[in-house]
Amino acid sequence: MSESAACQKCEADISGDGFIENHKVCPECGFHYPLTARERRDLLMDRDTFEGFADDLYSVDFLGFPRYAARLDTYRARTGLPSEMVTGTGAIGGCGVVLGVTDMHFIMGSMGSVVGEKITRCFEVGIERGLPVVIVSGSGAGARMDEGTVALMQMAKTSAAARRHADAGLFYISVVTNPTMGGTAASFVTLGHVIIAEPGAMIGFAGPRARAAIGEKMPPELQSAEALMANGMLDMVVPRAELRATLLDLLNFVANKPPAAAL
Ligand SMILES: [Zn+2]
Repeated sequence: MSESAACQKCEADISGDGFIENHKVCPECGFHYPLTARERRDLLMDRDTFEGFADDLYSVDFLGFPRYAARLDTYRARTGLPSEMVTGTGAIGGCGVVLGVTDMHFIMGSMGSVVGEKITRCFEVGIERGLPVVIVSGSGAGARMDEGTVALMQMAKTSAAARRHADAGLFYISVVTNPTMGGTAASFVTLGHVIIAEPGAMIGFAGPRARAAIGEKMPPELQSAEALMANGMLDMVVPRAELRATLLDLLNFVANKPPAAAL
């Protein structure tokens, strides 16, 4: 964060330590800035419980799409991640879970073959080990066009995997962050038994740029978490600071145990 960083919404100074301690939420207006996948993992999981899987998967430019190979190299170097998603098992308040987190900082967290495969493996590991799945999504671009129809196929593949996990009697919580658009919003993101969004998150199928391209004008707040909540598309809107405790309450509820606050 540079010395003169100002909030993009309210222009308050967010360059101090308080912004980081507030989990990258503007202390003045409450705007939720993207976390990296690792920051999100550390926010939600019990310390030292996380064990990654499928860490060896990474995207390749199998179509020879212009500039894709170079972009992959750039984002790997910039983020220090092999791919746009972190997946693993661990504990939230002592409850075992499978956690998957897409990283907005890696080509907007868009879904290519690797994100599709990693999400599918989250559900498969959940089925094998009898664990609930928590997936935290953020994707400004939805399906990754650099991978053509293979990217679009991931919508069906991840949806089928979520269904197999549900058919096994297991619980799936989808956490939606700003922004989540396109093929991810239209597949696994909206299949959670409980769908939680962070305040102010923009969620929808066609984002503002796609709508502008066809000359369609809609008020931007129409795709906000608050509007979707009011229209029955979400179950909860939860500030980032309360997210871990909310997940724990839900996990305890489904496990038929009373939440800690009720003890
Ligand atoms: Zn602000």
